[in-house]
Amino acid sequence: MKRLLALTAAAFISLPLSPALAHDGAPGAPGAGDPYFPDQGNGGYDAGHYDLSLDYDPSSARLIGVAGITARATQALSRFNLDLVSTLAVRSVTVDGRPAAFTQSGSELVVTPARSLPSGRGFSVVVRYDGKATHVIDPDGSLDGWIKTSDGVFNANEPQGAMTWYPGNHHMTDKATYRFTVTVPSTRVAVANGDLVAKWSQGERTTSVWDSHEPMASYLATVSIGKFEFADARIGGYRVTTAVDPKLAGDAKGFPERHPPVLDYFSSVFGPYPFSSTGGIVDHAPEVGYALETQTRPIYPRVPSESLLAHELAHQWFGNSVTPTLWRDIWLNEGFATYAEWLWVDKLGTRTVQASFDAAYATAAEDDFWQSPPADPGGPENLFHDPVYDRGAMTLHMLRREVGDAAFFAILRAWASDYKYGNADTAAFIALSERVSGKQLDALFEAWLFKPGKPAL
Ligand SMILES: [Zn+2]
Repeated sequence: MKRLLALTAAAFISLPLSPALAHDGAPGAPGAGDPYFPDQGNGGYDAGHYDLSLDYDPSSARLIGVAGITARATQALSRFNLDLVSTLAVRSVTVDGRPAAFTQSGSELVVTPARSLPSGRGFSVVVRYDGKATHVIDPDGSLDGWIKTSDGVFNANEPQGAMTWYPGNHHMTDKATYRFTVTVPSTRVAVANGDLVAKWSQGERTTSVWDSHEPMASYLATVSIGKFEFADARIGGYRVTTAVDPKLAGDAKGFPERHPPVLDYFSSVFGPYPFSSTGGIVDHAPEVGYALETQTRPIYPRVPSESLLAHELAHQWFGNSVTPTLWRDIWLNEGFATYAEWLWVDKLGTRTVQASFDAAYATAAEDDFWQSPPADPGGPENLFHDPVYDRGAMTLHMLRREVGDAAFFAILRAWASDYKYGNADTAAFIALSERVSGKQLDALFEAWLFKPGKPAL
């Protein structure tokens, strides 16, 4: 699942290496090659599983972590990087059980194993770390990562917050499975992705264990902590796990039961729901100002409306199971989830998809909205600008009008199934659309995805 770095491999092969040097390998790249976040992710290995043990005290914000990472070398490695903010101090690192040398600089933890790792070799890393955990500020000014609330943590990590609470290969092309073992004061509840598999209390501390079986990009991981009303039940064929801030309990009445109808409808349109459980985390976090589709269990800063609930649940197919290859392709997440909102409110009888399209298209031609094409947002500060969402959704509606309903929904289902648990880019979506519909669609996508200006109808 990890995108191989052709540049690094080529540079390595072109060196006139002696056999001894070849055996020692070369350093893994410090980034995965994404132009929007050059330091994000790392080269030279593919992470397969994270076993994270986290102990957190909300009153001091002190986080104590032990991260066990199972990975495979994709080149002969003399050393490799993990992404972790240096405000968290690393105390020790082992590779395959042996102490390894390490340094921390910026958001890079550089690990030099006692013995280099041959290409193709599986290996395990254990990192012990602690410190006062906090968020980072994104290029667009939003809070990202370990975001403290009055009673715990609102933990949302798109696009770069994962490095604020655990070391890893934090580019979305390297998906992995997870186990979270989280210990918090018993007055608090910790909620992570996947399925709650164990819970126990000792003294005044409670530990919960969560398994996330399906591959996950690290920006979709969450360990959220607060004074939550917790529920975990089978409803309509789904395991629905929810946590609601008691301040919002009144408005959130019936929140668990709202999930199955949306998921049933999306399953009928997009194909089977890709994960073993669902649910959501409703926190009182007015300072955050956004919701995130954290895998299996979105996190909301308030009780979600029907369209916001539909948006975050649609991301489970589009964004979480099928994930972009580069951040520039983010319209494949947001345009699709916005179109799914339009489908859901149409299904509810509130507003037709065509009316949603018309309302968005009514934006005046001279408005800045039309100057930023969705498949080329221009930089990380524009990742979550309106055109990525609304013009992205309009692109899908134009595709539907061009190819007809049968081909359009066949395209969406093929996208969800062909790239399940993987990564794909805009070029792959265009190729798939042309293959399924049998139509030449360059002009449509060029006008709607790539060219500044308001496309004619
Ligand atoms: Zn979204």
